[in-house]
Amino acid sequence: MIVMKKKMQYINTILFCILLLTGCGTETKQNKIEAEVKATGENIPSETKEFFSMDTYMTVTAYGLNAKKAVEQAQSRVVQLDDRLSTGKEDSEVSKLNNTSRAKLSDDTFYLMNKALEICDTTDGAFNPAIYPLMELWGFTTGEYKVPTKRERYKLLANMNPQNIKLHENTNKVAFANEGMKVDFGGIAKGYTSAEIMDIFRENGIESGMVSLGGNVQVLGSKTDGSLWRVAIQNPETEKDYLGILEIKDKAVITSGGYERYFEQNGKVYHHILDPLTGEPAENGLKSVTIVSEDGVLADGLSTALYVMGTEKAKKYWMNHSDDFDVVLLTEDEKLYVSEGIETSFETDYDVNIIRNGKLR
Ligand code: AMP
Ligand code: MG
Repeated sequence: MIVMKKKMQYINTILFCILLLTGCGTETKQNKIEAEVKATGENIPSETKEFFSMDTYMTVTAYGLNAKKAVEQAQSRVVQLDDRLSTGKEDSEVSKLNNTSRAKLSDDTFYLMNKALEICDTTDGAFNPAIYPLMELWGFTTGEYKVPTKRERYKLLANMNPQNIKLHENTNKVAFANEGMKVDFGGIAKGYTSAEIMDIFRENGIESGMVSLGGNVQVLGSKTDGSLWRVAIQNPETEKDYLGILEIKDKAVITSGGYERYFEQNGKVYHHILDPLTGEPAENGLKSVTIVSEDGVLADGLSTALYVMGTEKAKKYWMNHSDDFDVVLLTEDEKLYVSEGIETSFETDYDVNIIRNGKLR
């Protein structure tokens, strides 16, 4: 039997969001990260829009004189980015590139290609944008799931060398040196989108706002009363509870986990984050990874990459890049690791293991 679990989670996310907005917070079924969108500033104009795009329910909220305009522009920008980046749309830039092995890209798509390759490089290939043929092989792109053979997987793995993606900086042209190579920005596009929305807010003079893209949150400034935004991190184990609450300003909080999208076959679960070493769903000891960073693109790319790496490599990666982000890791055996940069801003009922790099002591 094949089971797909995704849409219900987004519906639950919306429910949680509505509960926060209306303030009737009894027991909430929270499946994603959500920020508390209720700010207490009086007389400050505010605007919230909820819509479905990028296969995700989104909530965009801004406070300030231009709130309405900013939120409308944000929604148009999401549509524009989806039209450029979606692998599901035949005429998107990414589809054109994948179908013809070459394309002249917009600045958005070219920038993301560069960032994806940079993250691929620093994570030793744990994040690899050339993963798309494998996503197709497993049926994640169509919903026609199947468990491929080792031979089928290895054939595609041999064609994922990021060095075969050739970029021409002056012209925004990209070409694949190998036939059949295809890219997928699914692991990074939402982080870019939320970062772009923060820019739109700033351009409109907004000093306080938030966006939740399927539960991945980015906030601008603090709440209108000057207090920090409170962002709950989902507990992949139970839909009634969350791992903890983060108090933040000017940050993206992005979570990856196998629980977000998977199918089951013969009693085994196969999820959508693939290990580029094996071509199979990553099973390296982690249930979820949350990245907290000012850089939304980095947060999204690293949430996927550190999930692939597994606990020990993820901890080491944070130690070597601790200026750029913080991390919350939940392991398969229910241990919670939190990097020391957010030690005092993360509240949880779990026993916490702090990851230290020696710099702060
Ligand atoms: P996220 O929810 O941000 O972890 O992104 C998961 C999505 O990233 C998947 O649905 C794929 O589109 C894509 N993806 C899966 N595995 C990888 C990988 N190893 N490197 C880059 N992208 C991936
Ligand atoms: Mg990601």
